[in-house]
Amino acid sequence: MSLAVADVTPAPQTRLLVLQGTPFCNIDCSYCYLPGRNSKARMAIDTVRAAARRLREDGLAGSELTVCWHAGEPLVLPIAFYEDAIGAVAEALGTATLVTHAVQTNATLIDDAWCRFLRRHGVSVGVSVDGPASLHDRHRRGRDGRPTHAAVERGMRLLRAHGVPLHAIAVVTRATLAAPDAFFDWFVDAGVHEVGCNFDETEGRHRRSSLGGHEEEHAAFLRRLLERSLASGGRLVVRELAAAWSRVSAALPSWHHAGRDWPDNAQVMPLALITVAANGDFGTFSPEFIGQQHPRFGSFAIGNVHHQGYREALRGEAFARLWAGVYAGMQACARGCAYFAHCGGGSPVNKLYETGRLDSAETLYCRSMLQRPFDAVLAGVERELAAEALR
Ligand code: SF4
Repeated sequence: MSLAVADVTPAPQTRLLVLQGTPFCNIDCSYCYLPGRNSKARMAIDTVRAAARRLREDGLAGSELTVCWHAGEPLVLPIAFYEDAIGAVAEALGTATLVTHAVQTNATLIDDAWCRFLRRHGVSVGVSVDGPASLHDRHRRGRDGRPTHAAVERGMRLLRAHGVPLHAIAVVTRATLAAPDAFFDWFVDAGVHEVGCNFDETEGRHRRSSLGGHEEEHAAFLRRLLERSLASGGRLVVRELAAAWSRVSAALPSWHHAGRDWPDNAQVMPLALITVAANGDFGTFSPEFIGQQHPRFGSFAIGNVHHQGYREALRGEAFARLWAGVYAGMQACARGCAYFAHCGGGSPVNKLYETGRLDSAETLYCRSMLQRPFDAVLAGVERELAAEALR
């Protein structure tokens, strides 16, 4: 099922370009889904340049673009690599696109030189940290098996001392569900303003989530975080609850394809997210497809920036196979899910790894990341309205 760009309105525009500077990671988390994290391959600057140039040539670069360095630990590469890479992206895209670079880092390699670099270039920094050491060190260990929490705290202190803003992303496991207050307090004490709560998803080589069978505890965990966040006056914002608030209060914008409007969800919109692997292979839809291998979809690559453009790849067989599944998955969601107008069809990578199919609908992922946060916020709003009515 190929797709002509003319079939989509508004015309596709890339919001997020994920560049895998290297698949290598210096630590060894137990829930990691990246199969290539032992590989020390590094993206060539020519590949960085081609990835950005193709966006401009294909008319996919709008007025703003986030370039996220991810899918491995980005700070294992030297600062000089990023100096060159940021220059190459700027040169390829010109001044019409405002580019924000972002890194998602385990923060264990942060030093003064990194802080100065990150600040100088206004890089958005996301730190992967699971809260207090008792939760974090259960899973986030070094390649020598030692805990990493102390090194992460040190990195975060340095970032703060240099005035580098950061947000955090935590992986919520079954153990976290029993400790919402300790979790919340740790982030407040660490001076973090926003935390994203991913859960240990079933993905790639990580085949079983500890949240399975514990969804009511997860709902209680979210309710408690909502109470604490509201009571703190927004001192710590929980990303999923903030996103749920905007979904409850306003409908998602829409895009048009195949004679109907669809709610805006970048993970199912061709080319809204593009991921480029260290060797130049690129894919679209969920960024977590990068580096995976699948009996039906191979490496999930739909092209390579050295051989063809992104739009041209939409005419290829690799894209056609993926799009047929992703589109059927959107249709399945649209037919049967009460949350569809607020979600737009979820996350293809989670559908595939949880159900074995892209053309499926509900998953543990969407119940955890969309439905339960939505319900928690909606119930909170309804309680407030009821209390207001009684006053
Ligand atoms: S919440 Fe789940 S089932 Fe509903 S639209 Fe989203 S992905 Fe589909």
